[in-house]
Order: sequence, then structure tokens, then C-alpha cells
Amino acid sequence: MNSWLLAILFIIFTSYILEIIVSLLNINALSPTLPKEFETTYNDQEYSDSQEYTRVTTSFSIIRNTVSTFLTVLFLLYGGFNYVDILARSFGYGPIITGLLFIGGLTFLSFITNLPFSIYSTFVIEERFGFNRTSLKTFILDIAKGALLAFVLGAPLLSLILWFFINSGEYGWLYCWFGVVLFSIILQFLAPVLIMPLFNKFTPLEDGSLRDQIFKYAKQERFTLQGIFTMDGSKRSSKLNAFFTGFGKFRKIVFYDTLLDKLNDSEIVAVLAHEMGHFKLNHIIQMLIASIIQTGLMFYLLSFFLSNTPLSEAFSMTETSIYSSLVFFGFLYSPINLLISLLFNSLSRRNEFEADNYAARTTVSPEMLIQALKKLSQANLSNLTPHPAMVFVHYSHPTVLSRIEQLRQFRISSDLEGNKT
Ligand SMILES: [Zn+2]
Repeated sequence: MNSWLLAILFIIFTSYILEIIVSLLNINALSPTLPKEFETTYNDQEYSDSQEYTRVTTSFSIIRNTVSTFLTVLFLLYGGFNYVDILARSFGYGPIITGLLFIGGLTFLSFITNLPFSIYSTFVIEERFGFNRTSLKTFILDIAKGALLAFVLGAPLLSLILWFFINSGEYGWLYCWFGVVLFSIILQFLAPVLIMPLFNKFTPLEDGSLRDQIFKYAKQERFTLQGIFTMDGSKRSSKLNAFFTGFGKFRKIVFYDTLLDKLNDSEIVAVLAHEMGHFKLNHIIQMLIASIIQTGLMFYLLSFFLSNTPLSEAFSMTETSIYSSLVFFGFLYSPINLLISLLFNSLSRRNEFEADNYAARTTVSPEMLIQALKKLSQANLSNLTPHPAMVFVHYSHPTVLSRIEQLRQFRISSDLEGNKT
């Protein structure tokens, strides 16, 4: 057996088994006793709903993962990649268009196998727990818009990458790196104006006390804010959220309409203060730099595996090509990707604590953010007691209980300081 094939099968099965272990640990960690902190927020029914939601979504992800691993291995062993390549080549185009057809074909196959799962997740699971607001029309339109974006943005980017690797010799990876970084920075500016409005409606927040409070807080923190918007998140789900878009002077804060319904003004300002903290503490720029570095590393490593015939043979390919090497490298890169995401997640969790602290320091009292976090968990049926392994691998945010605990300590330590003076 080809040693690349052995390595790839080993990678696929190891990551599959790790994922299953983490999921099972997480289901086992569900505790029937409501954490004390939430006694005044949740009633028994809500708490058991949140546990059931974790149980159902985790079991579902185990099934989804099992099916997709099984299909990937079958496809790999039975020469599926080669069939797609033969079909892509049969049109007789050059290496770039053929590469687009090959990767487009694989993307389409993966979309088709995922479709039943996303239908089930949206219309059965989310529906059962009362989250789903997506109509069939929105669901289909989302798919169409996603495909349009892949065609308009993904295809040119991929062509550029292939072009650099075909034409720029050993520095191809460097050009790809710059190209992709530039592309994603431009996208950061275009997304709020051109892409996001395709999916949601953004309305400026109407005049009133909330708007006044937000601008007052932003002014106090010397934070330029181009606008405050509400987004019709309720078009798809009843879950709550808020985020910033844009850079520098173009920053806008966006609240889901569902969040404005559930939180009071002071709690909303606390959420805003947390998000603003990410800017003030340079988390946004730090994450941007980290992701630029990781993109460079990926392209550099990729450059060693382009047109690697034994690697292509592991995938039963009759012809070796740069575009197919791109896909095969993805399999080899996945353990490195996992390590990097562990690093990113732990950095992000640290940043969340810092942003919470920032919010506590700059708003009236940490209590507002604590209340907001509780309401968010309640409305989103968040798992209050995830297993530490699950947090370590997948959580970009610390558990809500650890965040609340930290905020309470903040209050105690600032009270002590207050007593000293
Ligand atoms: Zn945050």
C-alpha cells in the first residue's frame, strides 16, 4: 500500500475518533442539577430543554461526522477523485479552467451529501427547539446566493492561486500568500456593503434612549462609530447575537433584532462595551495578523506537495496536477490545521475574558454584562456544563459560568480597591 495513502487514512480515522471521544465526553458531562448561578434565570423546563438540545445536536453531529468520514474514505479508495478529474479534463480546457471544474465538481458533491443534514438540522432539530424561523424560500435562496458568491468570488481567487503556482516557480506560494491576504482585506471592506445585505436587511437603529446611551458610551470611550444597525436575524433563527463590521472609521455595530427584543438598554450597552473591548484591546488586529501568518505557513507547506506523484497515486489519480494537489494537501494539512485552531481558540478565549473585563471596567457595573450573558445562554439554550475537552477543542468563547465567575471576581477586586482609598 502507498505510504501516503496509509498516512492519510491514519489522519482521517484519528481525527474521527478524537471527535467522537470529545462528543461523548460532552454528552456525559451534562449534569441534571442546575448550576446555582442560574437558579433565578432558568426554570426546570428551560434547563432540561437546554440539556436535551445539547444531547440532540451532539448526537446529530456524531452521525453526520460518521457518514461523511465513511463516504470520504469510500470515495478516496474507489478512485472518486480520478473520475471527477477525467470528467473535468474531458472538456479539453487549460489547467486553470480544468482545475476550477475539478474543485467545483468536488465542492458540488460535498454540498449534495451535506444537504440532507442541513435540511434536517434546520427544519427538524432547530424547529423542535423553537429556534427555526427559516422559510423554505429563504433556505433555497440562501443556497443560490452562496453558489453565486462562490462563483463570483471563489472562482477568481482560485484561478489566481492556480495561475501563481503554474507561472511563478518556487516563489508561487509567496505570491499566493500576498494575493489571498490582499483579497481578504478588500473583502472585509466590501462584505458589509455588498455581501451581507444579500442575506439580511440592515436598518439604522431608531432614535431613542438606547441610541443615545450607545453614542454616549462610545463618546466616553473615544470610539468612532459610523452607525448602529439592527439586522433581521429573526428571518432565520430566534437565537441572539451582536457584532461589529468594518474597520476604522467605517465601524458599525449590528444587533440582531432578536437581541434587542430580549435585553434591556443597559444590558445592550454592556454587550456593546464587550465588543468594543475587542477593538480597544487590539484583539481584532491581533487575530488578523495571526491568520495572515497561518495563511503564509499553509501556502509555504503546500508548495512542497505540488505535483507530488506518489501523493496523487494515493488518491488513485492517473494524472498528477497542481489543482488536484491543492485538494490532496488539504488532507495532509488537517492535523496542522487542528493544532492551529486549538491555538486560535485558546487565544480567543483569553481575549473574551479581557473584553469582559473591559466592559466591566467601563460600564456602570459588571452586573449588566452578567445579566446579558445569562439571557443570551437562556435564549440560545447554551450548554452550561460543557466538558473541558470540548471547550479546549471547539470553544472560541469560555463557558458562560467561567465568564460570570470572572466578572464577579472583578467586582470583588474593584470593591477592595475602592476600600483602600
Ligand atoms: Zn467577544
